[in-house]
Amino acid sequence: MAFELEKLYSRRRDIHEKFGGQQQGGISTPASAPYIFLFTSEAGEQHGYHDGYDENGLFIYTGEGQVGPMQFLRGNRAIRDHINDGKELLLFASTKKSGIYRFKGTFVCAGCDDEKIGPDTEGNPRRLIQFHLTPSSVVAAHLQDESSEIVVTENISLDEMRKRAYAAVENKVCTAPVVSKKNLYKRSEDVKAYVLARAKGICESCGKAAPFLNKGGKSYLEAHHIRQLSDDGLDIPSWMAAICPNCHREIHHGQDGAMKNQILQAQIKNFENSQFVDVAAQ
Ligand SMILES: [Zn+2]
Ligand SMILES: [Zn+2]
Repeated sequence: MAFELEKLYSRRRDIHEKFGGQQQGGISTPASAPYIFLFTSEAGEQHGYHDGYDENGLFIYTGEGQVGPMQFLRGNRAIRDHINDGKELLLFASTKKSGIYRFKGTFVCAGCDDEKIGPDTEGNPRRLIQFHLTPSSVVAAHLQDESSEIVVTENISLDEMRKRAYAAVENKVCTAPVVSKKNLYKRSEDVKAYVLARAKGICESCGKAAPFLNKGGKSYLEAHHIRQLSDDGLDIPSWMAAICPNCHREIHHGQDGAMKNQILQAQIKNFENSQFVDVAAQ
């Protein structure tokens, strides 16, 4: 990870000079970096809205748009679609020092609320979009807890699991925070269950059988996010692979790790694309 939790960074020098992206506004979307930078005011008050954690542990982040109803355009659309676009949400909070921000971590958009009304910068009431962000580490911890527990009790086909996994990440409906969080966990389980089933006990990188069985008696493979630099958070099936611990270590720490990751990425993309053609042809 390019940023350390709770450390201070200069927005211009450490973020935009390195990664690009809009230098103004709350949501910065550099085209070529796998990040979306979110800036929030540590004081919490921005145009009269309070961004921060709610009682469910979700970070409520108000979207952009100065005047009139907020819409799913530009930055707001980027947050909503970040998983499908393979981008991580990096949250920074302003400090007393102008241009200096504190890194608050990597987040996943669990859902949003577009029913609240609040004043725009001219004081007129308008529709707000508030995103429900959850720390990626929370999603990752949940996935790890569940890793040996994901057992498909129903007798469903791989095709059906694939459909569920894709439907799960396309589920972008704005909803209440509690529902958002529930949906997020369900989504992460559906995607992971599908990716593990897709691998059929064979490492998707080296093609060898999983080295051992887990406590549940299933082939042990690890979920790897092909696009992201960390394995936290949620991804779509074509950005995720089930690989053996050896390949996993090598990809993250080996001299040829980046190359190995690129090959894996191409393989998975090919496979997922071919599945879509099949589905469309039916
Ligand atoms: Zn392997
Ligand atoms: Zn990984």
